[in-house]
Amino acid sequence: MTDYVFAPPPQPAVPVAGDYALFPVRRIYCVGRNYAAHRREMGGAENDPDPPFFFAKPSDAATPPGTDVPYPSQTSNLHHEMELVAAIGASGANVSRDEALSLVFGYAAGVDLTRRDLQSAYREKGQPWEGAKGFDFSAPISAIKRWEGPPPQGRISLSVNGQVKQDAVVADMIWDVASVIAEASRLWRLEPGDLIYTGTPEGVGPVVRGDLVQGEIEGVGELSFRIV
Ligand code: MN
Repeated sequence: MTDYVFAPPPQPAVPVAGDYALFPVRRIYCVGRNYAAHRREMGGAENDPDPPFFFAKPSDAATPPGTDVPYPSQTSNLHHEMELVAAIGASGANVSRDEALSLVFGYAAGVDLTRRDLQSAYREKGQPWEGAKGFDFSAPISAIKRWEGPPPQGRISLSVNGQVKQDAVVADMIWDVASVIAEASRLWRLEPGDLIYTGTPEGVGPVVRGDLVQGEIEGVGELSFRIV
């Protein structure tokens, strides 16, 4: 048995719908600007020639169902971004678009919480985004639903205190799930436990302490958390 100088940190994990066993989280990748209407609201052109791009969050940013989200420090403009999450269950690098879906364990509903004010400041200075995206509790997620076959295409929606803020369809993605996984696998070897947040549709906006955030992806799942 290996000795450590202190106890290793707990393994971040997410429940699996209908299963006692948990999904252990290895890495969290996120896609930026993957819906045209969100690209517009963030100040990009609809036909932006730049392809969607990736950033990452720490694995322990994954915030499983039933966990409140503390309002993070260093921001006064915390935004919700409702996203379909692909949970990876097999290893693969440089996979083709046709092979990509065979890596999928299941899907979940997730929120890519963002310190929008810091993100804007970093973008202006050309600095990295970790402080805006990769903070503690920044990746709320529903239980993962095991899945085979074509990915979800249906309604993706988010409400704050019962008011609908985001309401779109997953089918409106610029890069579909297979393309996102294939592209990610060209940058990193994907391994079981990886989560890929696939981008948010339009309607992102602020949340404050006390808000109840509820999200749903048709056929996949629901999540609900309070900002405290
Ligand atoms: Mn996002």
